[in-house]
Amino acid sequence: MNVLLIHPYCLEKRVRDYDVKVVPIGLYYIGAVLKEKGHNVDILNLYDFQNKQEEIKKIFEIKRPNLIGFSVLQANRLGAAEIADLAKKVLPETKVVFGGVAATYLWSHFLKHYPQVDYIVVGEGEHTFLEVVENLENGQTPSGIDGVAWRDSKKPTINKPRPFIEDIDSLPNPAKHFRFQHVVSSRGCPWNCTFCGSPRFWKRNVRFHSPTYFVDQLELLARQGVSHFYVSDDTFTLKKERVIQICKEIIKRKLRISWVAISRVNLVDDEILFWMRKAGCIQISYGVESGSRAIRKIFNKNISDHEIKRAFELTTLYGILPRAYFIYGSPGENSSTIKKSIHLIKQIRPLSSVFYILDLFPGTALYDDFKKRFRVPDDIWLKPIEDIMYFETDPDLDEEKVLQFGAMLRKAFYENLPGFVQKIELIDKEDLYPAHADFLSRLALTFTHGEYAANDQIPKKDKVAKELFKRALKYHPVERAFLGLAIIYQKEGKFEKSIEVLSQGLEHFPDSPDLNSCIALSFINAGDPQTALSHLQKHPDYRNNKELIQVCKTSLSTASK
Ligand code: SF4
Repeated sequence: MNVLLIHPYCLEKRVRDYDVKVVPIGLYYIGAVLKEKGHNVDILNLYDFQNKQEEIKKIFEIKRPNLIGFSVLQANRLGAAEIADLAKKVLPETKVVFGGVAATYLWSHFLKHYPQVDYIVVGEGEHTFLEVVENLENGQTPSGIDGVAWRDSKKPTINKPRPFIEDIDSLPNPAKHFRFQHVVSSRGCPWNCTFCGSPRFWKRNVRFHSPTYFVDQLELLARQGVSHFYVSDDTFTLKKERVIQICKEIIKRKLRISWVAISRVNLVDDEILFWMRKAGCIQISYGVESGSRAIRKIFNKNISDHEIKRAFELTTLYGILPRAYFIYGSPGENSSTIKKSIHLIKQIRPLSSVFYILDLFPGTALYDDFKKRFRVPDDIWLKPIEDIMYFETDPDLDEEKVLQFGAMLRKAFYENLPGFVQKIELIDKEDLYPAHADFLSRLALTFTHGEYAANDQIPKKDKVAKELFKRALKYHPVERAFLGLAIIYQKEGKFEKSIEVLSQGLEHFPDSPDLNSCIALSFINAGDPQTALSHLQKHPDYRNNKELIQVCKTSLSTASK
């Protein structure tokens, strides 16, 4: 069968595009299961295809899928419905299947109001989806397929739930068939935070891939050229020994990769952080949510201030960037709770922070509470909205106030960031020195060229970066630190200083095109085109070296006249 799996677009432009632009890993697993059974599968990421109806139609006409599966999130459900409608117009015989978090919780709503949707895969998708495909091939109704919702005599109906796949290693490795960067080594989370969809989707049951399966996946992807991974497990460090095994396996196989992960503040210690750093982990995100214990209690986030502080301190100590997730606009939020969050930020000194307004998603306890309070059915989602913000449902909050809270949090974080950087303490372990240099120079780069470079709320960015690059080089020679430091000197007009740093860099990395180009630029500015030329000629085709070579030659010929 010809199957198309689609990650749809959101109708509204999202503030943080990265939240919705990545194909969920589940689609790759489903794709792999179908491929190994001989089906033809294409996965399409249409996250930025708003207003490209003609292009989408063309895709349908060329691929002529018998079945189209959509992975549906709350935010992109209207986009999914729009694309599905288009599919039915182009290929009326094609079956449309919705799956994913939003489809699971709103199955009845979708089947009632969206005739273009034929079936819903509820919960874990791989085996259910495969059975839907096989059933359709045999011309049968899905009445016998566990985990499917459909229309029985036009009435939305749901079959028995499908039990979870016990051994997730039994699933074919999707990296054998696809290339992706977001990976998961486990499914589920044992906790029960009231704003989160995971507890109900996975029923607080956690299943793990074996270290071998997971590292095989990383290796297969690394061989396809992926060098950086987003490990998207709800809580990667749930089982310490298993994580250490994964890390040792990455090191044993000499995978030269970097990766980021998500954890919980009570689930890290020295040993696990040491191995994670050795294996290429460069960032860990922690859900801190709020500095107010009362709000954390409403969220059912049972973590203490002490645990939060300890996790942030330890993570930094091992040269892993600690990132904090904060939520604001929550029940009971006011200036005093925001002050508590700001106080906590200053104590834990995160090096990256993400601040979200509390959003109510179906499948969460807070959404159920909202439905009860306002006696609204799921059909509220018939409105052309992609989110329901908590503050819209609370008479004590309003948009202006909440936006102001967000601005206060961000201001406090960004203005204090240089101070947080200054206080970074790294563990004195010699075998981590190269990793420390990597950490400090990466962080420096975010101030000169990355996320922080364009942020006007952060003071003294070049000064911060300069100190970080210098500190990095005290631990280990890193190409990006030599380069970064030299570029800052160039910006300051200190070309001799820049030449000095780059010359040291070239002792370690003589063939680096970047270092050679950069030193050439400094020599040109210092009035030495001859030496500049000798560096540029090592990589004449690199970036704008051709033009620089011409500049040197012109200058030399003018001088000789
Ligand atoms: S927020 Fe994190 S810890 Fe809480 S239930 Fe969700 S995944 Fe688990």
